[in-house]
Amino acid sequence: MTVADASLPIETDALIIGAGPVGLFQVFELGLLGISAQVVDVLPHVGGQCMALYPDKPIYDIPGLPRCTGRELTQRLQTQAKPFSPTFHLSHQVTSVARLSDQRLQVQTNHSQTFMTRSLIIAAGVGAFLPRSLSLQGLSELEGRQVFHHADQRPATVAQHRVVVGGDDDAVGTAIQLAQQATGLDAGRVTLLHRRLALDASPDLQAQLQSLQAAGKIDFKLGQVTGLGMHGQHLQSLDIATPEGLSHSLPCDALWVLLGLSPQLGPIAQWGLAMSRKQLNVDTERFATSEPGIFAVGDINTYPGKRKLILSGFHEATLAAYAIAAYLRPGEKIPFEYTTASPRLHQRLGV
Ligand SMILES: Cc1cc2nc3c(=O)[nH]c(=O)nc-3n(C[C@H](O)[C@H](O)[C@H](O)COP(=O)(O)OP(=O)(O)OC[C@H]3O[C@@H](n4cnc5c(N)ncnc54)[C@H](O)[C@@H]3O)c2cc1C
Repeated sequence: MTVADASLPIETDALIIGAGPVGLFQVFELGLLGISAQVVDVLPHVGGQCMALYPDKPIYDIPGLPRCTGRELTQRLQTQAKPFSPTFHLSHQVTSVARLSDQRLQVQTNHSQTFMTRSLIIAAGVGAFLPRSLSLQGLSELEGRQVFHHADQRPATVAQHRVVVGGDDDAVGTAIQLAQQATGLDAGRVTLLHRRLALDASPDLQAQLQSLQAAGKIDFKLGQVTGLGMHGQHLQSLDIATPEGLSHSLPCDALWVLLGLSPQLGPIAQWGLAMSRKQLNVDTERFATSEPGIFAVGDINTYPGKRKLILSGFHEATLAAYAIAAYLRPGEKIPFEYTTASPRLHQRLGV
């Protein structure tokens, strides 16, 4: 699959907001009808809730798959969508949608990527998964340079004093990875900072943490960050308040704030679409919203009898694809074909 980073306006027939399971299946259903899609997600990876909230938990109610984890389902959906070569714009949050005079939609992301799309499919789940942060003055200016909110982010230059804040699998796993990568001069300069002694990480990660602590490769400290110690534009320490009410300074030149993700509906509520209780109203024939050319599938939509299940989203994406094809090709009959029997579909699938 292609991952784009162009900043030029991108023209497309279909833009999908959300690369969760339903957004991924939407790519497939549109592809079968000859429509290729661009996909935007604020997360640095695809999979939505399946990857962000329960990658290793088994799901039991996907038709034909008696048991599969969130990660496995995501991989399978990616493989299924592959013949249609979707372009993914990850780590982009869609911030605005505006109607152009030619009826296309202009969609903008927080990283200044603009799309001109003929149809828009909102598969935004429970909202954009944004990392919880610390409310500290000056923190956002250091983002991407010395402060990181995703486990896989790394500073461009060697950091001597690395601090990971958090106590879940992500935080503990990141501290372990940093300590294991550390060699020579770097050894022993990784600190895991958590507000309490009990961690929310798996027993396996906690055991690894303990052995790295015993080997002097990780410091585990209790406390909360109350301020940033700056030297000009450069972060060099953290002000820490301990549970005992003491305060001290901790050297730090790279900080990972890994306090989990929180879904935020954010800008979607401002696009003037009819909503009920933070969900987009759709009909159950086309999954169209109140705005022509804008459709909504998966957890983000609502209609009588709605159930927030992956299976329901797959059905919605299928009917929405037919409605989008009809919208993009007015007057044309959209053929109904089986993947088992249609040479045209076989050609599109490359089988
Ligand atoms: C713990 C748990 C267990 C579950 N178990 C099951 C189960 O067993 N079976 C089942 O069927 N369902 C289960 N679910 C529910 C299932 O995960 C959801 O129904 C499903 O993920 C919905 O898919 P989606 O693609 O609609 O949305 P999501 O998976 O929420 O994906 C939406 C994506 O859109 C992105 N996004 C939102 N707004 C923006 C924006 N403005 N810009 C860019 N990106 C944006 C988000 O970052 C996210 O990645 C479970 C949920 C949880 C939390």
